[in-house]
Amino acid sequence: MGTSPERQSAPGDASDFQSLLLQAIYDISPDGILVVNEQGLVVSHNRPFLQLWNIAPSKLHRRDDGTMVGESDAPLLAEVVARVQNPAAFLERVRELYDNPQLDDHCEIELKDGRTLERHSTVLRDSTGRYLGRVWFFRDITAQKNHESALIQLARHDPLTGVANRRYFFERGEQEFMRSRRYHLPLSLALIDVDHFKQINDQLGHATGDEALKMLSRKFSELLRESDLIARIGGEEFAILMPSTGLAGAALMAERLRMAVTEAPTPVAGQMLNLRFSAGVTQLKAKDQSIEDCLRRADEAMYKAKQAGRDRVEACA
Ligand code: GH3
Ligand code: MG
Ligand code: MG
Repeated sequence: MGTSPERQSAPGDASDFQSLLLQAIYDISPDGILVVNEQGLVVSHNRPFLQLWNIAPSKLHRRDDGTMVGESDAPLLAEVVARVQNPAAFLERVRELYDNPQLDDHCEIELKDGRTLERHSTVLRDSTGRYLGRVWFFRDITAQKNHESALIQLARHDPLTGVANRRYFFERGEQEFMRSRRYHLPLSLALIDVDHFKQINDQLGHATGDEALKMLSRKFSELLRESDLIARIGGEEFAILMPSTGLAGAALMAERLRMAVTEAPTPVAGQMLNLRFSAGVTQLKAKDQSIEDCLRRADEAMYKAKQAGRDRVEACA
């Protein structure tokens, strides 16, 4: 697009080749590039810069020969800031970089339209080390970010029900265990096992059993708080991590889930099933070495609930 000054040189000489090469790279780059001089005037940009930021070309004035007029980057910055999710942090970092010419930058910027841009910024100096300005590079990494979060989702979640899997439960469980110890906060755990689930499979088929697990997970997830974590840790076993929650609160929550399941039949594959579950609830104790100790106690409490006739919540103080 020819936005940088054309250089006068004899055809075929090395510097001519060099400058043509640089111009070609500049124009073909999928990265948005913006160059600001030492006075804070925009001296150059390429087309992807405007495209990435959705800025109309008329916002930047160019001379007939394609070079920039050299205008303050303030209006451009205002355009850019209007598109980022966290304008205050963005502006603070830009000012920091302009105030500290020795700094390079590499960060990710979330945009209001859901895209993520990667930004690199580096300083331009002449051969004597004199500061000439700053170059800003922007790259759209939304597809890469989406791919990463899809992989994280796969690694952490149970494909059948969509709730957390056993591995992620223990990962988060250990984190909450440490947090609870450090800040002296309560931490509780409920273990849920569906009653007579084998019968559902035997009488209605494995696919219906699967569907029942999905519907139960959905019911649980709807009732739990944002801060709680529900995971499918076994075939028809769910564990719920309840940070900042004492035993009484956790038992109440488990009872609320139980009531929600017993009070209304669950629609599963075109029929209404009277699902039931037994649960064991416990809270973290001083003697516990890990979240697994806590889970073992919840399992014992759940076993007691089964022994006592099922469809109940047993709390272990
Ligand atoms: P209770 O817990 O009340 O003692 O009885 P139960 O019938 O639920 O007993 P148990 O825990 O021994 O059996 C669990 C059954 O869950 C056995 C297995 O066939 C079934 N199951 C485990 N994972 C899955 C799954 O992913 N899908 C389906 N449909 N069934 C599963
Ligand atoms: Mg079981
Ligand atoms: Mg069971």
